[in-house]
Amino acid sequence: MSLFTAVELAPRDPILGLNEQYAADTNPKKVNLGVGVYFDENGKLPLLQAVQKAEAALQATPKARGYLPIDGLAAYDQAVKELVFGKDSEPVTSGRVATIQALGGTGGLKVGADFLRKLKPGAKVLISNPSWENHRAIFQNAGFEVGTYSYYDASRRGIDFDGLLADLKAAAEGTVVVLHACCHNPTGYDLTPAQWDQVIEVVKARQLTPFLDMAYQGFSQGLAEDGAVVGKFIAAGLDFLVSTSFSKSFSLYGERVGALSVVTKSKDEAARVLSQLKVTIRTNYSNPPTHGAAVVAYVLSTPELRALWEEELGQMRTRIKAMRQKLLDGLKAAGVQQDLSYITTQVGMFSYSGLSKEQMLRLRSEFGVYGTDSGRICVAALNENNVGYVAESIAKVL
Ligand code: PMP
Repeated sequence: MSLFTAVELAPRDPILGLNEQYAADTNPKKVNLGVGVYFDENGKLPLLQAVQKAEAALQATPKARGYLPIDGLAAYDQAVKELVFGKDSEPVTSGRVATIQALGGTGGLKVGADFLRKLKPGAKVLISNPSWENHRAIFQNAGFEVGTYSYYDASRRGIDFDGLLADLKAAAEGTVVVLHACCHNPTGYDLTPAQWDQVIEVVKARQLTPFLDMAYQGFSQGLAEDGAVVGKFIAAGLDFLVSTSFSKSFSLYGERVGALSVVTKSKDEAARVLSQLKVTIRTNYSNPPTHGAAVVAYVLSTPELRALWEEELGQMRTRIKAMRQKLLDGLKAAGVQQDLSYITTQVGMFSYSGLSKEQMLRLRSEFGVYGTDSGRICVAALNENNVGYVAESIAKVL
């Protein structure tokens, strides 16, 4: 009998488990479309030029690594505010947004969840059905009861918008609603601007608490277009939270660069909110790390590097779209008759392929093509060398 005898083995993370299975697969043609990571045309994780140049510039005047403030690097928090809300936007100039540096988008969600749980202990949380797997776990671990609102309609291959509105209308006042700002994970289906307007109307009427998760800004239409939803919430006069992730847009996954911004009614309110966010951070990890935030702040605030980053982000976006088209073309060339045009209308890094669990298992075991059991494939991991093989393999299991 030891202290840990009663400890049960937790189920392994389904996506990381898939990676292990992929690594052990001896099929020379294997392709990993499981994890949500962007790979370049050579199948490599990119190190952006903008990041390299920022690192070189920072290295030119090496700095000692003292503790950052609890809420992170001030220049980084300011750069995030300007990116998410606009430099000259009223909420930023009036000082009514509280922004903290967080450990990736996950960290932003977690700090926000802990803060809201203290503020509204009785509130429930609603996430989309389906959603990024970690949404439920993050909010449950913060102590919330988590339910879902309708989102994906498999029969219609799109969003069940009537169901979504009905679920939000039925939610109790104060319910926290987690919304994917763009590039919905896992489905690849986003709300249209007109649908966002309707969602905002219900959120306002029902006095719900919106929590926008912005993990893929720049991967759908562009930075401004993908961020436009934030402006809609501002224009509606709502108080809300936004988590930001630079993992994908800067290809800085391992540096854990993210943020949480809370839009309040006044500068005074923002100061009080910030003080509470700092308590949450202080009692979890004290303060965030220096490097990733310094790089991102440098890029965002240096005009040439900012332009270079936007260009590189644009290249990633364009390449993903080209791969969606190639996949569709490849499926047609392989003789698939059914309408799969949704592959090119979905946006972001993922495609909900519509394949069943059995088909996904066959893809893995017979062809070494790895996607999630739910049928999600990461189109950002396709390239000229593997897309033809993936299309042929999918055609064979359809
Ligand atoms: N939200 C969504 C919807 C995501 O897909 C992800 C990452 N896969 C995150 C948040 C977390 O991002 P990060 O890796 O920066 O923690």
